[in-house]
Amino acid sequence: MLKYKIGTKVVHGSRCYDPHTGAVSFPIYQSATFRHPGLNQTTGYDYSRLQNPTREELENTIANIENGKFGFAFSSGMAAISTILSLFSPGDHIIVSDDLYGGTYRLFEEIYKKYGLEFSYIDTGKIQEIENAVKDNSKAFFIETPSNPMMKVSDIRAISEFAKDRGMLLIVDNTFLTPYFQRPLEFGADIVIHSGTKYLGGHNDTLAGLIVVNDDELAEKLKLIQKSEGAVLSPFDSWLILRGIKTLGLRLEKQQENAMKIAKWLCTHKNVTKVNYVGLPDHESYNISKSQASGFGAMISFNVKDVQIVEKVLEKVQLVLFAESLGGVESLITYPVVQTHSAIPEEMRERIGVNDTLLRLSVGIEDAEDIIADLEQALE
Ligand SMILES: *Cc1c(COP(=O)(O)O)cnc(C)c1O
Repeated sequence: MLKYKIGTKVVHGSRCYDPHTGAVSFPIYQSATFRHPGLNQTTGYDYSRLQNPTREELENTIANIENGKFGFAFSSGMAAISTILSLFSPGDHIIVSDDLYGGTYRLFEEIYKKYGLEFSYIDTGKIQEIENAVKDNSKAFFIETPSNPMMKVSDIRAISEFAKDRGMLLIVDNTFLTPYFQRPLEFGADIVIHSGTKYLGGHNDTLAGLIVVNDDELAEKLKLIQKSEGAVLSPFDSWLILRGIKTLGLRLEKQQENAMKIAKWLCTHKNVTKVNYVGLPDHESYNISKSQASGFGAMISFNVKDVQIVEKVLEKVQLVLFAESLGGVESLITYPVVQTHSAIPEEMRERIGVNDTLLRLSVGIEDAEDIIADLEQALE
């Protein structure tokens, strides 16, 4: 499948069809265990925590579309991130984008700090801040680009070079752009992670997490952690994500087209004071984004004039659903300060700009005119 373009690869997965039956929709192998043909013999499948054909098809598909060698599927994005943290040892230091998914921050601070891992949160969009943050025990960068919810972009190539010089790993959470628009491994990242719950699944109906790497040794370590800790994705959920990926290109193109229209419209609204969308040519990261991604995605955050308007908007939206999460076909609006980012301390939130007038919009595939009309009546 390597010779094909990304829009083709997402449709056909890793093998195009089931080699045993020709089924075009890859079968759901709903089996916990597999019969051995004889002593010391295996079909390649022994027990579904170790390997399952449906999960494996998804793992090969995500590896294929991220242009990596090895894929791993987990029961959620957090389970995938947790697996990555198990690669490190007490005393190791990890440098993290300060504007990031609140659940990731909580996992780092409330769970893994206890086991002796150390985390620093900085603006990874600024090379100077990166240089200042590195210590003797720094082992990795964990970045989100564009970041959540402020849409700041980090230079994947530059950080990867910096990391390689110091023997550090670069881990990129690629949930917001997906491999359809951005493939960090091509710019030297070592590990890509996804919340498959978002754009890859695309229908707000399944939780999933994915990891992709190129390095054989790293893959072996991740395989050991995956089968030992056991937070694997079920066969049915693997199938749902496989089905979602088939329309990833179509969905993202439409979502991005809608997002551009909505971002431009928001810029003109009297009750909106600031719009963060990477696709706006005056966004501070517009050029760096163009150099590493083929699209801007469909996530927008914006500030309204005051907190009373926030309350009104969340009460009055009808088509746009007031709900956590992102990336699905339905447009969703969230209030990061109380939802996705509530785990982040106020001081840090204020520093990065996640304040009480900020709303985040995940643009769906509806008609843009209807989304705008709904926001218009809610913002009045
Ligand atoms: C949602 C999300 C996660 C966590 O994924 P789950 O599937 O909810 O566990 C991690 N990173 C980003 C950027 C997310 O949006």
